[in-house]
Amino acid sequence: MYINGGWSATKETIEVKHPGTGELFRRVETVGKEETNQAIEAAHQAFVKWSKIPAINRAEVLERIASKILEKQEELAQVISSETGKPITLSRGEVKKSGEYFKWFAEEARRVYGETITSPITNKRLMAIKQPVGVVAVITPWNFPLLMMARKVATALAAGCTVVVRPSSESPCIAVELFRIFDECELPTGVANLVIGNANEISNVILENNKVRKITFTGSTEVGKHLMRGAADSIKRVSLELGGHAPFIVFEDADLELAVENAVYLKYRQAGQVCVCANRFYIHDSIYDEFERLFVQKVSELKVGLGLDEESIIGPVINERAISGIQDQVDDAVQKGAKVLYGGHRLNDGEYAKGSYYCPTVLSDVTEDMKIVHEETFGPVAPLMRFHSEEEVLQKANNTEYGLASYFYTNDLSRVYRVSEQLEYGIVGVNDSSTSIVESPFGGVKESGVGREGGHGIEEFLETKFISIRINE
Ligand code: NAD
Repeated sequence: MYINGGWSATKETIEVKHPGTGELFRRVETVGKEETNQAIEAAHQAFVKWSKIPAINRAEVLERIASKILEKQEELAQVISSETGKPITLSRGEVKKSGEYFKWFAEEARRVYGETITSPITNKRLMAIKQPVGVVAVITPWNFPLLMMARKVATALAAGCTVVVRPSSESPCIAVELFRIFDECELPTGVANLVIGNANEISNVILENNKVRKITFTGSTEVGKHLMRGAADSIKRVSLELGGHAPFIVFEDADLELAVENAVYLKYRQAGQVCVCANRFYIHDSIYDEFERLFVQKVSELKVGLGLDEESIIGPVINERAISGIQDQVDDAVQKGAKVLYGGHRLNDGEYAKGSYYCPTVLSDVTEDMKIVHEETFGPVAPLMRFHSEEEVLQKANNTEYGLASYFYTNDLSRVYRVSEQLEYGIVGVNDSSTSIVESPFGGVKESGVGREGGHGIEEFLETKFISIRINE
């Protein structure tokens, strides 16, 4: 753990294993209730100074962190791949983007503005100022273990907040590496603190401790709801980046080749373990057969493995529980009438024997009563469905409690506007599969979350204070 600017050892440890080989990668020490409270106290005390440091000086520290992350790109990427099984080329991309977030928020730190308000009363002067919310608890998932910490911590620190970070127990090693960087970059004592350990134990302390004024969480909708309920007791602010179930719609006038290429990337990248992954494929009836043929062809060419080369995008899934969840959705679909066009099973033989690998899978004849159409799929399975009209596909695409990302392909300009406006999602990709960039607002509607990260994210870490001044005339 890293608390109040120092590393300390504890007795309890967890083993972190490579999901692709089953081999032990590292052992990491864990903490409990007492240390979590110490971390919160350290962040609380550090807040007094850090929040008052001129933004330009906070920005300098963030700049240093950004440079150091980029300098250590390869080393950090190897750690991410070793603990999550993420193909190395995707890990390198994650590190680069994490550096970019620190750089962006170093710049944003200097662009926090308040307002003066025209007074209706002659002897009053009115203004609204922005101030950091206070101590922030940062809870992150394993699938983008560095990026999610970077996006949250960089924003919080830029705003003048201090943080207590609790990473996923599946991917704690990259958190340790990030805190080594904070240490090397001389982030002042107590500004960022790291606690690794049991999720329930640590989050209960976070929820109960009134010094924590905000929780920023990325993970499943189920855990997000639990934290939101718990935060209600002391009215902590929450930002939640939760699960998704993205529709991928191909209209009859789309560029079919582009749509197929993007569909494969969006579904199978990182073995489908991305919150903005395409999860439901709606293809117009008139082009369905051709799409299906091209899609299955491309999927059959995908290489699954440890992901050590530049081309690989599919590694193992995170653990055995993930394999069971994926197989459950496939079995349910098949039992209700879906056809398996490709895959449909885990990979067991040879190089796959020791890891948790699932074969890229394509299902056809998928119907609305199947689990896969309603539950988030965190795996490499694509359910294909036909549609006949814009109205029908919009109704089906929106028929979900999720609302994170959505995608559609068309060359009709009027449809671009109509459909973008009617999709009930926080993110819409139009003929575009890479919608997550540092500058953009990132987040979901409905049960996919509350608040926005990324480009506009600093507001989430600021309070507005109204100041009313009566003057002598
Ligand atoms: P998860 O909800 O199981 O875990 C997320 C984090 O919460 C982990 O650190 C975990 O240890 C912790 N946690 C688990 N139980 C907890 C509890 N009771 N109290 C407090 N913390 C608890 O999710 P995951 O499997 O790590 O990640 C996958 C999920 O994250 C998917 O649903 C995915 O869509 C979502 N996700 C969303 C985004 C986004 O930006 N919207 C980004 C990445 C992942």
